[in-house]
Amino acid sequence: MTGNATHSPTGDVKDLYDMGEMPPLGHVPAEMHAWLIRPERFGEPMQAFQKEVVATPPVGDDEVLVYVMAAGINYNNVWAGLGIPVNVIAARNKAGEPEAFHIGGSDASGIVYKSGKNVTNVAVGDEVVMHCGLYDNDCPSIKAGGDPMYSPTFKIWGYETNFGSFAQFTRVKAHQCMPRPQHMTWEESASYTLVAATAWRMMHGWGGNAVKEGDAVLIWGGAGGLGSMAIQIAKAAGATSVAVISGQDKVDYCMKLGAKGCIDRREFDHWGMLPHWKDNAGYATWLKGVRAFGAKFWEVLGERRAPNIVFEHPGETTIPTSVFLCDTGGMVVVCAGTTGYNATVDLRYLWMRQKRLQGSHFANTVQSNEMNQLALRGQLDPCLSRTFAYDEIPLCHQLMYENKHPHGNMAVLVGATEFGQGAHGEPEVVTEHPVMPSDDVHTTPHPYPMSVPLPGIDEVEPVAIADDGTKVSDLMHHGVISCAPTDSVGQVAKTMIDNDIHAVVVMDGGQAVGVVSQTDMVLARQGRTPDEAQGLLAQDIMTPGCATCDAGMLLSEAVSMMTGRRMHRLVVTENDRPIGVLSMTDVVRRLLLD
Ligand code: NAP
Repeated sequence: MTGNATHSPTGDVKDLYDMGEMPPLGHVPAEMHAWLIRPERFGEPMQAFQKEVVATPPVGDDEVLVYVMAAGINYNNVWAGLGIPVNVIAARNKAGEPEAFHIGGSDASGIVYKSGKNVTNVAVGDEVVMHCGLYDNDCPSIKAGGDPMYSPTFKIWGYETNFGSFAQFTRVKAHQCMPRPQHMTWEESASYTLVAATAWRMMHGWGGNAVKEGDAVLIWGGAGGLGSMAIQIAKAAGATSVAVISGQDKVDYCMKLGAKGCIDRREFDHWGMLPHWKDNAGYATWLKGVRAFGAKFWEVLGERRAPNIVFEHPGETTIPTSVFLCDTGGMVVVCAGTTGYNATVDLRYLWMRQKRLQGSHFANTVQSNEMNQLALRGQLDPCLSRTFAYDEIPLCHQLMYENKHPHGNMAVLVGATEFGQGAHGEPEVVTEHPVMPSDDVHTTPHPYPMSVPLPGIDEVEPVAIADDGTKVSDLMHHGVISCAPTDSVGQVAKTMIDNDIHAVVVMDGGQAVGVVSQTDMVLARQGRTPDEAQGLLAQDIMTPGCATCDAGMLLSEAVSMMTGRRMHRLVVTENDRPIGVLSMTDVVRRLLLD
């Protein structure tokens, strides 16, 4: 029942056991060994994590205490150790929990040692894996049948909650426990749940667009943690997937997992935010790039069809491509923005072709168990790339922090005494175990923590920034160089060049009604001869309205206006009359050179 782990000699009941010395089944010692993060040592993982002995936590009526055999490694606990962007310990203390430390770990395999009086789904002695979606069953919205993922009580175990899996015992809600695949080692079974359950909800959780037989799926980062699970989930559903990767060395890996083939994203360069929709030339170049990418998708898929589902997580650099490529009525489903959060979308393709851009986060218990059925049957390889010893918990997080960790999922031994213990027999379905090239280099930007409290509309707590009180009037250029709406573009261009300025304000009856910028000029020339462009009027090409700031406004607020609108200058007003211009060049001079 307990693999090759070493039980303490029968009857040897103690208050604390050495690592690897398994207490008699059902005996919970008063204390346990654990890796702890404390606020006084927040910082890089090698500093933040330290071994300590703490009291074994009590369990509530609907909770279970699991003896941890192995734990999975996720980026969340790099953030927990840094203490940013959230100090998880302070957040819990504020909510009434007394412990001044954090025990992380959001994936694990182990054996149930104690269960609360209301627990019915597991018993002492059961071998389990745990999903990290913790919520309160008494939450009214859940009782009313709502998805627990929408409950305000939802938390990520081992990040937002204490007593995760980097300890001899972990405390979980009973609903988090699922049967452990017996054909896997302790470390394999500890490694897949977080990414696989996330991928399952993305692919199966969105009614009307759930993956089905015959679907075509585009999967970003096919060799990554989520992507490798998505390929296998698509295959199990009878869908055909095309994986995006960087580097031909990952093709074989993705195809062994079940992808039809791969696209090497390094062959394309149309990434990032969309060009402005008025920029015909830029847009045409982008279209050429995205169409070539689409043609490659057809080539790899073997037919000229768009993907029914696009499995997204890179975010800012790839969303424009994902939304463009997605089939009419299809879904782009996104669970992260690893490359950035300001994704741009050409809404024409979204509404005319009635596509869905769907956010998705982890998974509920039903979905986690559905995913786990695949693992139990042998249809889901855990894609474990490296297992570390218990003493190496800080090291594997440090590797993640430095982006030197291997691709795939990592695990660490906790109660298991040797690598490779705990596997018995063959699963129902036997698949080939894919192996990543050993020299593979991890290039993914650091992800944001999986779960962070986002400010709502009712939270008005301002972000404190250093502000020296400089006003717009301290830095602005007085006087506005303007033109009339009916001036020709040729005249406006001359004004601009003669005065060596980047934009001219269009004034009508003393009011600023628009701006002609250099960008507007260049766009007006697209598809026209110089004579034709010069003959246009300022009102034909101006950007209507005028981004203004008041002379008395704080410079920091004016800067936020400019960065928010991706602008480099604002017209300064006083009593609603334009009196000058504030440019980003002046701000840079002030901030860096003065
Ligand atoms: P991962 O193992 O590091 O894989 C990410 C993959 O993205 C890499 O394999 C890389 O593949 C690809 N990639 C990197 N830069 C890219 C770019 N500029 N454009 C396109 N692809 C790029 O990470 P993961 O475990 O799959 O997680 C991915 C993200 O999801 C992370 O931000 C993570 O925090 C988040 N996540 C969210 C949830 C949730 O519930 N919300 C759960 C799990 C994970 P190639 O270089 O081969 O293309």
